[in-house]
Amino acid sequence: MVGLGSYAVQQLSGWGRFPVEECHVFRPEKRRLIAPLLAARQEQNYIARGLGRSYGDASVNGGNGVIDYSRLNRMISFDAATGVLECEAGVSLAEILEAFVPRGFFLPVLPGTKFVTVGGAIANDIHGKNHHRDGTFSQFLDSFELLTAAGDVLTCSPESNPDVFWATAGGIGLTGLILTARIRLQRVESAYMAVDYFRAHNIDEALAAMVESDERYQYSVAWVDCLARGASLGRSVLMRGNHAVRSAVRGNDPYRVKPKFRKTVPFDLPGIALNPLTIRAFNEFYYRMHPTAHGKVVDYDSYFCPLDSIDHWNRMYGKRGFGQYQVTFPVSATSGLTQLLERISGSSCASFLAVLKRLGPAGPGLLSYPTDGYTITFDIPMRRDLVPLLRELDKRVLEQGGRLYCAKDATALPETFAEMYPRLDEFRAIKARLDPDNVFSSSMTRRLGIVNGDTRKRG
Ligand SMILES: Cc1cc2nc3c(=O)[nH]c(=O)nc-3n(C[C@H](O)[C@H](O)[C@H](O)COP(=O)(O)OP(=O)(O)OC[C@H]3O[C@@H](n4cnc5c(N)ncnc54)[C@H](O)[C@@H]3O)c2cc1C
Repeated sequence: MVGLGSYAVQQLSGWGRFPVEECHVFRPEKRRLIAPLLAARQEQNYIARGLGRSYGDASVNGGNGVIDYSRLNRMISFDAATGVLECEAGVSLAEILEAFVPRGFFLPVLPGTKFVTVGGAIANDIHGKNHHRDGTFSQFLDSFELLTAAGDVLTCSPESNPDVFWATAGGIGLTGLILTARIRLQRVESAYMAVDYFRAHNIDEALAAMVESDERYQYSVAWVDCLARGASLGRSVLMRGNHAVRSAVRGNDPYRVKPKFRKTVPFDLPGIALNPLTIRAFNEFYYRMHPTAHGKVVDYDSYFCPLDSIDHWNRMYGKRGFGQYQVTFPVSATSGLTQLLERISGSSCASFLAVLKRLGPAGPGLLSYPTDGYTITFDIPMRRDLVPLLRELDKRVLEQGGRLYCAKDATALPETFAEMYPRLDEFRAIKARLDPDNVFSSSMTRRLGIVNGDTRKRG
Protein backbone atom coordinates (compact mmCIF):
# COMPACT_ATOMS: atom_id res chain seq x y z
CA MET A 1 0.00 0.00 0.00
CA VAL A 2 2.73 2.48 0.93
CA GLY A 3 6.35 3.14 0.19
CA LEU A 4 8.45 5.91 1.66
CA GLY A 5 6.46 9.16 1.61
CA SER A 6 3.18 7.68 0.43
CA TYR A 7 0.28 7.23 2.78
CA ALA A 8 -3.29 6.01 2.97
CA VAL A 9 -6.07 8.35 4.03
CA GLN A 10 -8.01 6.55 6.75
CA GLN A 11 -10.75 7.28 9.25
CA LEU A 12 -9.12 6.33 12.54
CA SER A 13 -10.35 6.03 16.10
CA GLY A 14 -9.31 4.26 19.26
CA TRP A 15 -11.00 1.12 20.60
CA GLY A 16 -13.99 3.14 21.89
CA ARG A 17 -14.63 4.35 18.29
CA PHE A 18 -14.99 7.93 19.45
CA PRO A 19 -13.76 10.32 18.13
CA VAL A 20 -13.21 9.25 14.50
CA GLU A 21 -10.83 11.43 12.48
CA GLU A 22 -9.25 11.40 9.04
CA CYS A 23 -5.52 10.69 9.25
CA HIS A 24 -2.63 10.11 6.84
CA VAL A 25 -1.35 6.64 7.65
CA PHE A 26 2.24 5.60 6.82
CA ARG A 27 3.16 1.93 7.19
CA PRO A 28 6.96 1.66 7.01
CA GLU A 29 8.26 -1.84 6.42
CA LYS A 30 11.69 -1.40 8.00
CA ARG A 31 12.97 0.62 10.96
CA ARG A 32 15.58 2.32 8.81
CA LEU A 33 12.84 3.85 6.64
CA ILE A 34 11.34 5.88 9.46
CA ALA A 35 14.09 8.51 9.86
CA PRO A 36 13.97 9.57 6.15
CA LEU A 37 10.19 9.67 6.40
CA LEU A 38 10.40 12.11 9.33
CA ALA A 39 13.14 14.13 7.65
CA ALA A 40 10.92 14.73 4.61
CA ARG A 41 8.42 16.50 6.96
CA GLN A 42 5.62 15.96 4.52
CA GLU A 43 3.14 16.34 7.38
CA GLN A 44 3.00 19.01 10.07
CA ASN A 45 3.41 16.30 12.66
CA TYR A 46 3.28 12.55 13.29
CA ILE A 47 2.22 10.13 15.98
CA ALA A 48 3.01 6.43 16.36
CA ARG A 49 0.19 3.92 16.38
CA GLY A 50 0.33 0.38 17.72
CA LEU A 51 -2.82 -1.74 17.64
CA GLY A 52 -5.14 1.19 18.41
CA ARG A 53 -6.25 -0.37 21.73
CA SER A 54 -6.23 2.95 23.56
CA TYR A 55 -9.87 3.90 23.79
CA GLY A 56 -9.72 7.58 22.83
CA ASP A 57 -7.47 9.70 20.61
CA ALA A 58 -3.96 8.85 21.91
CA SER A 59 -2.91 7.33 18.57
CA VAL A 60 -5.17 9.42 16.34
CA ASN A 61 -3.79 12.50 14.59
CA GLY A 62 -6.61 14.31 12.76
CA GLY A 63 -5.42 15.79 9.44
CA ASN A 64 -1.83 14.71 10.14
CA GLY A 65 0.58 11.79 9.97
CA VAL A 66 0.20 8.47 11.78
CA ILE A 67 3.04 5.95 11.75
CA ASP A 68 1.48 2.52 11.86
CA TYR A 69 3.75 -0.11 13.42
CA SER A 70 1.99 -3.19 12.07
CA ARG A 71 4.94 -4.15 9.84
CA LEU A 72 7.61 -3.42 12.46
CA ASN A 73 7.03 -6.58 14.46
CA ARG A 74 10.24 -8.61 14.39
CA MET A 75 11.75 -10.45 17.32
CA ILE A 76 15.48 -9.68 17.43
CA SER A 77 17.08 -11.84 20.15
CA PHE A 78 16.29 -13.83 23.29
CA ASP A 79 18.56 -14.85 26.14
CA ALA A 80 17.07 -17.89 27.87
CA ALA A 81 19.47 -17.52 30.82
CA THR A 82 18.23 -14.02 31.74
CA GLY A 83 14.80 -14.04 30.07
CA VAL A 84 15.62 -10.81 28.20
CA LEU A 85 13.79 -10.45 24.89
CA GLU A 86 14.78 -7.81 22.35
CA CYS A 87 12.13 -6.99 19.77
CA GLU A 88 10.75 -4.28 17.53
CA ALA A 89 8.18 -1.97 19.07
CA GLY A 90 5.37 -3.22 16.83
CA VAL A 91 5.53 -6.77 18.25
CA SER A 92 2.30 -7.48 20.14
CA LEU A 93 2.04 -8.98 23.60
CA ALA A 94 -0.02 -11.76 21.97
CA GLU A 95 2.94 -12.64 19.73
CA ILE A 96 5.30 -12.69 22.72
CA LEU A 97 2.99 -14.99 24.69
CA GLU A 98 2.52 -17.31 21.75
CA ALA A 99 6.28 -17.66 21.24
CA PHE A 100 7.49 -17.74 24.85
CA VAL A 101 4.85 -19.37 27.06
CA PRO A 102 5.70 -22.79 25.53
CA ARG A 103 9.32 -22.13 26.57
CA GLY A 104 8.32 -21.32 30.16
CA PHE A 105 8.39 -17.50 30.06
CA PHE A 106 5.58 -15.01 30.67
CA LEU A 107 5.21 -11.25 30.33
CA PRO A 108 6.01 -9.31 33.50
CA VAL A 109 2.89 -7.14 33.03
CA LEU A 110 -0.18 -8.05 30.99
CA PRO A 111 -3.18 -5.71 30.64
CA GLY A 112 -6.80 -6.78 30.05
CA THR A 113 -6.01 -7.46 26.39
CA LYS A 114 -2.94 -9.00 24.78
CA PHE A 115 -3.59 -7.14 21.51
CA VAL A 116 -1.28 -4.32 22.50
CA THR A 117 2.16 -3.58 21.04
CA VAL A 118 5.37 -3.19 23.01
CA GLY A 119 5.54 0.47 21.87
CA GLY A 120 1.97 1.10 23.08
CA ALA A 121 2.73 -0.69 26.36
CA ILE A 122 5.68 1.64 27.00
CA ALA A 123 4.00 4.83 25.80
CA ASN A 124 1.09 4.33 28.22
CA ASP A 125 3.31 2.64 30.81
CA ILE A 126 0.60 0.02 31.19
CA HIS A 127 -0.26 -1.83 34.38
CA GLY A 128 -1.75 -5.25 34.94
CA LYS A 129 -3.51 -7.12 37.71
CA ASN A 130 -0.14 -7.33 39.52
CA HIS A 131 0.54 -3.60 39.88
CA HIS A 132 0.11 -3.76 43.67
CA ARG A 133 3.09 -6.14 43.79
CA ASP A 134 5.17 -5.55 40.66
CA GLY A 135 4.61 -2.05 39.19
CA THR A 136 4.27 -1.04 35.55
CA PHE A 137 5.56 -2.36 32.22
CA SER A 138 8.51 0.06 31.98
CA GLN A 139 9.84 -1.19 35.27
CA PHE A 140 10.71 -4.42 33.42
CA LEU A 141 12.63 -2.81 30.59
CA ASP A 142 16.39 -3.02 30.36
CA SER A 143 16.34 -0.35 27.65
CA PHE A 144 14.70 0.86 24.46
CA GLU A 145 15.85 2.70 21.34
CA LEU A 146 14.13 6.00 20.60
CA LEU A 147 14.23 7.84 17.29
CA THR A 148 14.04 11.54 18.13
CA ALA A 149 12.72 14.45 16.08
CA ALA A 150 16.33 15.36 15.21
CA GLY A 151 16.81 11.92 13.64
CA ASP A 152 19.09 10.60 16.42
CA VAL A 153 18.65 7.12 17.86
CA LEU A 154 18.97 7.32 21.66
CA THR A 155 19.43 4.21 23.77
CA CYS A 156 17.42 4.90 26.92
CA SER A 157 17.43 2.98 30.18
CA PRO A 158 17.12 3.88 33.87
CA GLU A 159 20.93 4.43 33.76
CA SER A 160 21.45 5.92 30.29
CA ASN A 161 19.38 9.00 29.33
CA PRO A 162 17.16 8.32 32.38
CA ASP A 163 15.21 11.58 31.99
CA VAL A 164 14.18 10.61 28.44
CA PHE A 165 13.46 7.05 29.59
CA TRP A 166 11.00 8.19 32.29
CA ALA A 167 9.44 10.86 30.05
CA THR A 168 8.82 8.25 27.34
CA ALA A 169 7.31 5.71 29.78
CA GLY A 170 3.74 7.03 29.83
CA GLY A 171 4.66 9.87 27.45
CA ILE A 172 1.96 8.86 24.88
CA GLY A 173 4.35 8.95 21.93
CA LEU A 174 5.44 12.56 22.34
CA THR A 175 9.16 12.15 22.96
CA GLY A 176 9.85 10.20 19.74
CA LEU A 177 9.35 6.85 18.06
CA ILE A 178 10.29 3.76 20.05
CA LEU A 179 12.08 1.44 17.63
CA THR A 180 13.05 -1.57 19.74
CA ALA A 181 12.91 -2.63 23.39
CA ARG A 182 14.62 -5.12 25.70
CA ILE A 183 12.07 -6.66 28.09
CA ARG A 184 12.74 -8.94 31.06
CA LEU A 185 10.28 -11.84 30.89
CA GLN A 186 9.43 -13.86 34.03
CA ARG A 187 9.73 -17.62 34.32
CA VAL A 188 6.57 -19.63 34.95
CA GLU A 189 5.97 -23.33 35.59
CA SER A 190 2.81 -23.52 33.48
CA ALA A 191 0.43 -21.65 31.21
CA TYR A 192 -2.22 -21.77 33.94
CA MET A 193 -3.32 -19.73 36.92
CA ALA A 194 -4.52 -20.94 40.32
CA VAL A 195 -7.41 -18.59 41.07
CA ASP A 196 -9.47 -17.90 44.19
CA TYR A 197 -12.91 -16.37 43.65
CA PHE A 198 -14.61 -14.37 46.37
CA ARG A 199 -18.09 -12.90 46.18
CA ALA A 200 -18.24 -9.57 48.02
CA HIS A 201 -21.73 -8.33 48.89
CA ASN A 202 -20.83 -4.68 48.49
CA ILE A 203 -17.94 -2.30 47.86
CA ASP A 204 -16.86 -2.12 51.52
CA GLU A 205 -16.52 -5.90 51.69
CA ALA A 206 -14.56 -5.92 48.40
CA LEU A 207 -12.11 -3.23 49.57
CA ALA A 208 -11.67 -4.90 52.97
CA ALA A 209 -10.85 -8.21 51.27
CA MET A 210 -8.29 -6.50 49.03
CA VAL A 211 -6.60 -4.80 51.98
CA GLU A 212 -6.59 -7.97 54.05
CA SER A 213 -5.25 -10.43 51.51
CA ASP A 214 -4.09 -8.93 48.19
CA GLU A 215 -0.45 -9.32 49.20
CA ARG A 216 -0.85 -13.10 49.11
CA TYR A 217 -1.65 -12.97 45.41
CA GLN A 218 0.52 -11.80 42.55
CA TYR A 219 -2.62 -10.85 40.61
CA SER A 220 -5.86 -9.37 41.83
CA VAL A 221 -8.90 -7.86 40.13
CA ALA A 222 -12.60 -7.45 40.89
CA TRP A 223 -15.55 -7.36 38.55
CA VAL A 224 -18.11 -4.91 39.92
CA ASP A 225 -21.85 -4.89 39.31
CA CYS A 226 -22.34 -1.18 38.82
CA LEU A 227 -26.12 -1.38 38.64
CA ALA A 228 -26.39 -2.75 42.19
CA ARG A 229 -27.59 -0.09 44.62
CA GLY A 230 -28.31 0.51 48.31
CA ALA A 231 -26.78 -2.09 50.63
CA SER A 232 -25.47 -4.00 47.58
CA LEU A 233 -23.70 -1.00 46.04
CA GLY A 234 -20.53 -2.26 44.41
CA ARG A 235 -21.20 -5.97 44.88
CA SER A 236 -18.28 -7.72 43.26
CA VAL A 237 -16.50 -10.91 42.35
CA LEU A 238 -12.83 -10.81 43.34
CA MET A 239 -10.57 -12.96 41.16
CA ARG A 240 -7.15 -13.33 42.68
CA GLY A 241 -4.47 -15.71 41.58
CA ASN A 242 -0.90 -16.85 41.17
CA HIS A 243 0.81 -18.72 38.33
CA ALA A 244 -0.06 -22.39 38.81
CA VAL A 245 2.79 -24.73 39.66
CA ARG A 246 3.45 -27.59 37.28
CA SER A 247 1.94 -30.25 39.54
CA ALA A 248 -1.40 -28.40 39.67
CA VAL A 249 -1.91 -28.84 35.92
CA ARG A 250 -3.41 -31.96 34.38
CA GLY A 251 -1.98 -33.40 31.16
CA ASN A 252 1.56 -33.94 29.88
CA ASP A 253 2.44 -30.46 28.78
CA PRO A 254 1.78 -27.76 31.41
CA TYR A 255 2.47 -25.05 28.79
CA ARG A 256 -0.17 -26.22 26.35
CA VAL A 257 -3.52 -24.43 26.29
CA LYS A 258 -6.35 -25.82 24.16
CA PRO A 259 -7.08 -23.35 21.31
CA LYS A 260 -10.31 -21.46 21.93
CA PHE A 261 -13.26 -21.26 19.61
CA ARG A 262 -13.15 -17.68 18.37
CA LYS A 263 -16.37 -15.70 18.39
CA THR A 264 -17.04 -12.44 16.62
CA VAL A 265 -19.49 -9.56 16.72
CA PRO A 266 -19.99 -9.37 12.92
CA PHE A 267 -21.62 -5.92 12.73
CA ASP A 268 -22.57 -2.92 14.85
CA LEU A 269 -25.37 -3.89 17.21
CA PRO A 270 -28.23 -1.41 17.47
CA GLY A 271 -27.62 1.22 20.16
CA ILE A 272 -30.45 -0.14 22.34
CA ALA A 273 -28.93 -3.66 22.60
CA LEU A 274 -27.08 -2.65 25.75
CA ASN A 275 -29.59 -1.05 28.09
CA PRO A 276 -30.15 -1.18 31.85
CA LEU A 277 -32.42 -4.23 31.48
CA THR A 278 -30.01 -6.38 29.45
CA ILE A 279 -27.06 -5.27 31.55
CA ARG A 280 -28.89 -6.04 34.80
CA ALA A 281 -29.73 -9.52 33.51
CA PHE A 282 -26.11 -10.14 32.49
CA ASN A 283 -24.78 -8.88 35.84
CA GLU A 284 -27.11 -11.16 37.80
CA PHE A 285 -26.02 -14.12 35.68
CA TYR A 286 -22.31 -13.28 36.06
CA TYR A 287 -22.55 -12.84 39.83
CA ARG A 288 -24.32 -16.17 40.27
CA MET A 289 -21.87 -17.93 37.94
CA HIS A 290 -18.95 -17.05 40.22
CA PRO A 291 -19.48 -18.39 43.73
CA THR A 292 -16.66 -18.17 46.26
CA ALA A 293 -14.15 -20.92 45.37
CA HIS A 294 -10.49 -21.75 45.99
CA GLY A 295 -7.64 -22.88 43.76
CA LYS A 296 -9.48 -23.17 40.44
CA VAL A 297 -6.99 -23.81 37.66
CA VAL A 298 -7.71 -21.73 34.54
CA ASP A 299 -5.60 -20.98 31.46
CA TYR A 300 -3.86 -17.60 31.39
CA ASP A 301 -5.95 -16.24 28.51
CA SER A 302 -9.23 -16.82 30.32
CA TYR A 303 -7.88 -15.18 33.47
CA PHE A 304 -6.12 -12.16 31.99
CA CYS A 305 -7.92 -11.34 28.75
CA PRO A 306 -11.43 -12.85 28.76
CA LEU A 307 -12.72 -10.51 26.05
CA ASP A 308 -9.93 -11.31 23.59
CA SER A 309 -11.76 -14.42 22.41
CA ILE A 310 -14.51 -12.21 20.91
CA ASP A 311 -13.32 -10.36 17.81
CA HIS A 312 -14.64 -6.81 17.41
CA TRP A 313 -16.44 -6.86 20.75
CA ASN A 314 -16.44 -3.06 20.65
CA ARG A 315 -19.22 -3.30 18.02
CA MET A 316 -21.59 -4.30 20.82
CA TYR A 317 -21.91 -0.62 21.61
CA GLY A 318 -23.23 0.31 18.17
CA LYS A 319 -21.68 2.68 15.68
CA ARG A 320 -21.71 5.67 18.03
CA GLY A 321 -19.07 3.89 20.08
CA PHE A 322 -18.49 4.09 23.81
CA GLY A 323 -16.33 5.69 26.41
CA GLN A 324 -14.16 3.92 28.90
CA TYR A 325 -13.80 5.88 32.08
CA GLN A 326 -10.86 4.82 34.22
CA VAL A 327 -9.79 6.78 37.26
CA THR A 328 -7.78 6.19 40.38
CA PHE A 329 -8.43 7.33 43.94
CA PRO A 330 -5.84 7.55 46.70
CA VAL A 331 -6.16 4.96 49.49
CA SER A 332 -7.36 7.74 51.80
CA ALA A 333 -10.25 8.66 49.47
CA THR A 334 -12.27 5.46 49.08
CA SER A 335 -15.41 7.53 49.78
CA GLY A 336 -14.77 9.06 46.32
CA LEU A 337 -14.98 5.58 44.83
CA THR A 338 -18.30 4.95 46.56
CA GLN A 339 -19.68 8.31 45.41
CA LEU A 340 -18.62 7.55 41.84
CA LEU A 341 -20.40 4.19 41.92
CA GLU A 342 -23.51 5.87 43.34
CA ARG A 343 -23.45 8.50 40.59
CA ILE A 344 -23.02 5.97 37.78
CA SER A 345 -25.48 3.40 39.12
CA GLY A 346 -28.04 6.22 39.47
CA SER A 347 -27.41 7.75 36.02
CA SER A 348 -29.13 6.92 32.76
CA CYS A 349 -25.71 5.93 31.32
CA ALA A 350 -25.61 2.28 32.36
CA SER A 351 -22.12 0.77 32.44
CA PHE A 352 -21.76 -2.78 31.19
CA LEU A 353 -18.31 -3.55 32.51
CA ALA A 354 -16.71 -2.25 35.67
CA VAL A 355 -13.37 -3.43 36.96
CA LEU A 356 -11.71 -2.55 40.26
CA LYS A 357 -8.01 -2.99 41.10
CA ARG A 358 -5.66 -2.08 43.91
CA LEU A 359 -2.63 -0.15 42.66
CA GLY A 360 0.77 -0.01 44.34
CA PRO A 361 3.08 3.01 44.69
CA ALA A 362 3.63 5.33 41.71
CA GLY A 363 6.71 4.66 39.58
CA PRO A 364 9.16 7.23 38.19
CA GLY A 365 7.35 7.79 34.83
CA LEU A 366 6.53 11.53 34.61
CA LEU A 367 3.08 10.95 33.08
CA SER A 368 2.57 7.35 34.25
CA TYR A 369 -0.97 6.81 35.41
CA PRO A 370 -0.78 4.44 38.41
CA THR A 371 -0.58 5.94 41.89
CA ASP A 372 -1.07 4.25 45.25
CA GLY A 373 -4.80 3.62 45.59
CA TYR A 374 -7.73 2.02 43.82
CA THR A 375 -8.48 2.19 40.12
CA ILE A 376 -11.92 1.64 38.67
CA THR A 377 -12.99 1.33 35.04
CA PHE A 378 -16.44 1.75 33.49
CA ASP A 379 -17.47 1.10 29.87
CA ILE A 380 -20.35 3.41 28.97
CA PRO A 381 -22.18 3.65 25.61
CA MET A 382 -21.63 6.97 23.86
CA ARG A 383 -24.64 9.30 23.97
CA ARG A 384 -25.14 13.02 23.90
CA ASP A 385 -25.19 13.37 27.70
CA LEU A 386 -22.06 11.25 28.25
CA VAL A 387 -19.48 14.00 27.74
CA PRO A 388 -21.05 16.36 30.35
CA LEU A 389 -21.40 13.41 32.75
CA LEU A 390 -17.73 12.44 32.38
CA ARG A 391 -16.58 16.03 32.88
CA GLU A 392 -18.69 16.29 36.02
CA LEU A 393 -17.08 13.06 37.25
CA ASP A 394 -13.61 14.41 36.40
CA LYS A 395 -14.21 17.32 38.78
CA ARG A 396 -15.24 14.98 41.59
CA VAL A 397 -12.22 12.76 40.99
CA LEU A 398 -9.94 15.79 41.07
CA GLU A 399 -11.45 17.01 44.36
CA GLN A 400 -10.57 13.64 45.88
CA GLY A 401 -6.95 13.77 44.65
CA GLY A 402 -7.55 11.21 41.90
CA ARG A 403 -6.62 11.14 38.22
CA LEU A 404 -7.76 9.73 34.88
CA TYR A 405 -5.84 7.46 32.51
CA CYS A 406 -4.78 8.76 29.06
CA ALA A 407 -5.08 5.28 27.55
CA LYS A 408 -8.82 5.43 28.16
CA ASP A 409 -9.62 9.12 27.87
CA ALA A 410 -11.42 10.86 24.98
CA THR A 411 -13.12 13.80 26.63
CA ALA A 412 -11.14 15.45 29.45
CA LEU A 413 -10.29 19.15 29.45
CA PRO A 414 -6.73 20.57 29.55
CA GLU A 415 -7.10 22.20 32.97
CA THR A 416 -8.31 18.92 34.48
CA PHE A 417 -5.40 16.99 33.03
CA ALA A 418 -2.82 19.57 34.19
CA GLU A 419 -4.11 19.39 37.77
CA MET A 420 -4.17 15.62 37.78
CA TYR A 421 -0.58 15.27 36.54
CA PRO A 422 1.64 17.46 38.75
CA ARG A 423 4.83 16.48 36.88
CA LEU A 424 3.49 17.81 33.57
CA ASP A 425 5.88 20.80 33.54
CA GLU A 426 8.91 18.50 33.97
CA PHE A 427 7.60 16.49 31.02
CA ARG A 428 7.09 19.67 28.95
CA ALA A 429 10.68 20.75 29.58
CA ILE A 430 12.04 17.43 28.24
CA LYS A 431 9.64 17.51 25.29
CA ALA A 432 10.73 21.08 24.43
CA ARG A 433 14.38 20.04 24.51
CA LEU A 434 13.90 16.89 22.40
CA ASP A 435 11.26 18.14 20.01
CA PRO A 436 11.17 21.97 19.89
CA ASP A 437 9.11 22.00 16.66
CA ASN A 438 6.50 19.52 17.90
CA VAL A 439 7.16 16.96 15.21
CA PHE A 440 5.33 14.48 17.45
CA SER A 441 1.77 15.38 18.27
CA SER A 442 -1.68 13.77 18.30
CA SER A 443 -5.32 14.70 18.58
CA MET A 444 -5.10 13.86 22.30
CA THR A 445 -2.03 16.06 22.78
CA ARG A 446 -3.82 19.05 21.30
CA ARG A 447 -7.12 18.35 23.10
CA LEU A 448 -5.39 18.10 26.46
CA GLY A 449 -3.00 21.02 25.78
CA ILE A 450 -0.10 18.79 26.81
CA VAL A 451 2.44 20.71 24.78
CA ASN A 452 2.48 24.48 25.24
CA GLY A 453 1.57 26.28 22.03
CA ASP A 454 0.74 23.10 20.06
CA THR A 455 -2.83 23.85 19.07
CA ARG A 456 -2.17 24.19 15.34
CA LYS A 457 -4.47 21.74 13.70
CA ARG A 458 -7.30 20.20 15.69
CA GLY A 459 -8.82 17.09 14.19
C1 LIG B 1 -9.92 -4.62 26.42
C2 LIG B 1 -8.81 -3.70 26.87
C3 LIG B 1 -8.26 -3.87 28.13
C4 LIG B 1 -7.23 -3.04 28.56
N1 LIG B 1 -6.71 -3.25 29.81
C5 LIG B 1 -5.71 -2.46 30.25
C6 LIG B 1 -5.12 -2.70 31.53
O1 LIG B 1 -5.50 -3.62 32.26
N2 LIG B 1 -4.08 -1.90 31.91
C7 LIG B 1 -3.62 -0.89 31.11
O2 LIG B 1 -2.66 -0.21 31.51
N3 LIG B 1 -4.15 -0.65 29.89
C8 LIG B 1 -5.18 -1.42 29.47
N4 LIG B 1 -5.72 -1.19 28.21
C9 LIG B 1 -5.19 -0.08 27.40
C10 LIG B 1 -4.00 -0.51 26.54
O3 LIG B 1 -3.14 -1.36 27.24
C11 LIG B 1 -3.21 0.73 26.14
O4 LIG B 1 -4.05 1.67 25.57
C12 LIG B 1 -2.04 0.43 25.19
O5 LIG B 1 -1.25 1.58 25.12
C13 LIG B 1 -2.53 0.09 23.78
O6 LIG B 1 -1.41 -0.26 22.99
P1 LIG B 1 -1.47 -0.20 21.39
O7 LIG B 1 -0.34 -0.96 20.86
O8 LIG B 1 -2.82 -0.55 20.92
O9 LIG B 1 -1.16 1.36 21.18
P2 LIG B 1 -2.09 2.54 20.61
O10 LIG B 1 -3.37 2.54 21.36
O11 LIG B 1 -2.13 2.49 19.14
O12 LIG B 1 -1.21 3.77 21.07
C14 LIG B 1 -1.12 4.10 22.44
C15 LIG B 1 -0.06 5.19 22.66
O13 LIG B 1 1.22 4.62 22.41
C16 LIG B 1 1.93 5.41 21.48
N5 LIG B 1 2.80 4.49 20.73
C17 LIG B 1 2.46 3.31 20.15
N6 LIG B 1 3.54 2.76 19.58
C18 LIG B 1 4.58 3.59 19.79
C19 LIG B 1 5.95 3.58 19.41
N7 LIG B 1 6.49 2.58 18.72
N8 LIG B 1 6.74 4.65 19.77
C20 LIG B 1 6.22 5.68 20.49
N9 LIG B 1 4.93 5.73 20.89
C21 LIG B 1 4.12 4.69 20.54
C22 LIG B 1 0.86 6.05 20.62
O14 LIG B 1 1.33 7.22 20.00
C23 LIG B 1 -0.20 6.35 21.67
O15 LIG B 1 0.09 7.55 22.34
C24 LIG B 1 -6.74 -2.00 27.73
C25 LIG B 1 -7.30 -1.82 26.45
C26 LIG B 1 -8.32 -2.67 26.02
C27 LIG B 1 -8.92 -2.47 24.64
